Amino acid sequence: MSHDLLIAGAGLSGALIALAVRDRRPDARIVMLDARSGPSDQHTWSCHDTDLSPEWLARLSPIRRGEWTDQEVAFPDHSRRLTTGYGSIEAGALIGLLQGVDLRWNTHVATLDDTGATLTDGSRIEAACVIDARGAVETPHLTVGFQKFVGVEIETDAPHGVERPMIMDATVPQMDGYRFIYLLPFSPTRILIEDTRYSDGGDLDDGALAQASLDYAARRGWTGQEMRRERGILPIALAHDAIGFWRDHAQGAVPVGLGAGLFHPVTGYSLPYAAQVADAIAARDLTTASARRAVRGWAIDRADRDRFLRLLNRMLFRGCPPDRRYRLLQRFYRLPQPLIERFYAGRLTLADRLRIVTGRPPIPLSQAVRCLPERPLLQERA
Ligand SMILES: Cc1cc2nc3c(=O)[nH]c(=O)nc-3n(C[C@H](O)[C@H](O)[C@H](O)COP(=O)(O)OP(=O)(O)OC[C@H]3O[C@@H](n4cnc5c(N)ncnc54)[C@H](O)[C@@H]3O)c2cc1C
Repeated sequence: MSHDLLIAGAGLSGALIALAVRDRRPDARIVMLDARSGPSDQHTWSCHDTDLSPEWLARLSPIRRGEWTDQEVAFPDHSRRLTTGYGSIEAGALIGLLQGVDLRWNTHVATLDDTGATLTDGSRIEAACVIDARGAVETPHLTVGFQKFVGVEIETDAPHGVERPMIMDATVPQMDGYRFIYLLPFSPTRILIEDTRYSDGGDLDDGALAQASLDYAARRGWTGQEMRRERGILPIALAHDAIGFWRDHAQGAVPVGLGAGLFHPVTGYSLPYAAQVADAIAARDLTTASARRAVRGWAIDRADRDRFLRLLNRMLFRGCPPDRRYRLLQRFYRLPQPLIERFYAGRLTLADRLRIVTGRPPIPLSQAVRCLPERPLLQERA
């Protein structure tokens, strides 16, 4: 074997695995292959501070492009500031941390197996541990709704006045499902404005959403120069059969990241889960079999613990008319801050779950009951 670890895909999950393994075993021979010509400048990866372990927070803090001590949300009948920290990283800075990793851009993987990669030019690279981090793929074991967005980052002519991330400004007219604006103020004159929709369909009208973000900026009185755009169509899990997925992946390279359905069911974000998976791989022997045991075990346990979050998604997408979806989130954001933090970190307790569903039901009980079973959605898809 020419390498100890081969990672196909130098995106988020691949980079975090390389980082965790390199930090634990500085002498490991790690090769990363990516079809792109360099790190993507189309992404900022953000999360709440409480989503990450203290070790990951410390590791990523030096490369955070944005770092805030609080955040806010706004709904038609309720606004709130939360004292939960929030931060963003960029792909280029993350890749910059990977000193000592043999990173090969412009390298297109044709096929992967449990001993290596065959490239489109026919050459072969072998490793004791082979990870497939090539991003999202369709699977019959996952039924999803969509979080779609187009973000426009502008350098404003005058200070925009936004001091902290606006996680959801849902005071905007509702359309195409649950709609809100997400704001990240990177500096007093630099801001990302992202029109976001939780929709049933995965089609994205880039022009319309970009214009909606610019219209929002205009309404806030912000003029300036557009610096970059980002777009995303993220999966929101309504039903997930992780055991079935891993039965289909009992051999070959070990799937991770979006390709293995490893994302927060409600937000579609994968940074926190990817960090935990990286730890699970780094803690084991560097072999494909050990990595599979680690990731499979983590993923099945995670999917089990995320059952409740998928139920909430079914209520949002299947139990609630699109123009009223915002009410579920508005109600959720009246709950105590520690519960909200545990929700995003995937650490809800039984008491939290009861707290979320008790009280005046946000959707009619008959509708809620219809959302309970998960299986039919997977069968519907198959
Ligand atoms: C615009 C945008 C913003 C997002 N913001 C956030 C956020 O703020 N926080 C968060 O947690 N999540 C966010 N997400 C969601 C999710 O975390 C990202 O999609 C994340 O990048 C997924 O990680 P991944 O490793 O699975 O895939 P990717 O990061 O997409 O990495 C896959 C890599 O594999 C490479 N590749 C694919 N096929 C091949 C091949 N055949 N050969 C070689 N290389 C190949 C690709 O070039 C790519 O670099 C965002 C997504 C998008 C699109």
